[in-house]
Amino acid sequence: MGTTDALVTRLIRPEIRALSAYHVADAAGYVKLDAMENPYVWPEDMRLDWLARLQTVAMNRYPDPAPARLKALLREADGIPDGMALLLGNGSDEIIQMLLMAVAGPEVSVLAPEPTFVMYRQIARSLGLNFIGVPLAADFSLDLAAMTAAISEHKPALVFLAYPNNPTGNLFERQAVEAILAATPGLVVLDEAYAPFAEATFMRDLPNYPNLLVMRTLSKLGLAGLRLGYLAGTPAWIDELDKVRLPYNINVLTQVTVEFALEHHTVFDMQTENLRRDREKLFQALQALPGFTPLPSRANFILFRCDDRPAAEIFDALKRGGILIKNLSGAGGPLTDCLRVTVGTPDENRRFLAALPA
Ligand SMILES: *Cc1c(COP(=O)(O)O)cnc(C)c1O
Repeated sequence: MGTTDALVTRLIRPEIRALSAYHVADAAGYVKLDAMENPYVWPEDMRLDWLARLQTVAMNRYPDPAPARLKALLREADGIPDGMALLLGNGSDEIIQMLLMAVAGPEVSVLAPEPTFVMYRQIARSLGLNFIGVPLAADFSLDLAAMTAAISEHKPALVFLAYPNNPTGNLFERQAVEAILAATPGLVVLDEAYAPFAEATFMRDLPNYPNLLVMRTLSKLGLAGLRLGYLAGTPAWIDELDKVRLPYNINVLTQVTVEFALEHHTVFDMQTENLRRDREKLFQALQALPGFTPLPSRANFILFRCDDRPAAEIFDALKRGGILIKNLSGAGGPLTDCLRVTVGTPDENRRFLAALPA
């Protein structure tokens, strides 16, 4: 054992040893409102059609490394401007990794406002990059003065902006994002993971900014289990990033299932519309409860602050009541005593509200 420890210390890079693995809570048996998943399953006839489609898949063959039909369906579904290229990822997490691998170097900086999606920092650190987190303003809007000062000081190769932001749920001002696009000498990646719930996008702005890339995922839309994300941008960027991509990163089951799902996008459109409506109901219900302050959200989750008691107490009481949400209080700073709940079905939302201690 002693010699193994010494070997690990000698061979594993110090920046890796300094990291903690991304922790995922065991959700078995709980009403699962912790991970921004879509709570709805597919109608029975759609499931049967899907199973029939799966029978056509050649499991013995490698997947298509450049699935043209899948990309065409994505272009149509998401209004990707003509002339823009697409990079597919095994979830958008993998795209974040590809972006960072492509720019990585000893003197390279990456910047994002914080609190935000933790994988930007986690993956940047694992690749030995210098990660700069710039605090958001107290209301979680972009602190433009702090952002532009940090950008001119560190000249980041990459700036990540989650639009809307996770875990805060708010959508940054369009003008503030435009100011950051203008101030950044490097690339700005707009992470639009929650686009279906935000009804706001920079997708149509792609042709106007040489340093803009837009990232999307199908995870929050209702296909988290499949792992498909993509990056849209000018071919000059995408062609280079494509060299970092492993050729068969999108498996055959994902390819055929995403095509099938996009052919049935009206089902997802309806689910999304319901979730947006139920998000407003959940927000109002939380706002009406003494002791809790929810933040307005443009995503499929709501961040709320516990005013009277520690967040851990509320989190534990919910868990005892069979409800799993996310406790963000451990991150400290502006997230102290903050919890995040994903919008579920109306019944799940009711059960969550009923399990909140009075
Ligand atoms: C959930 C999330 C992702 C990760 O999405 P996957 O495609 O499932 O890897 C990326 N960015 C943000 C802001 C997210 O909240």
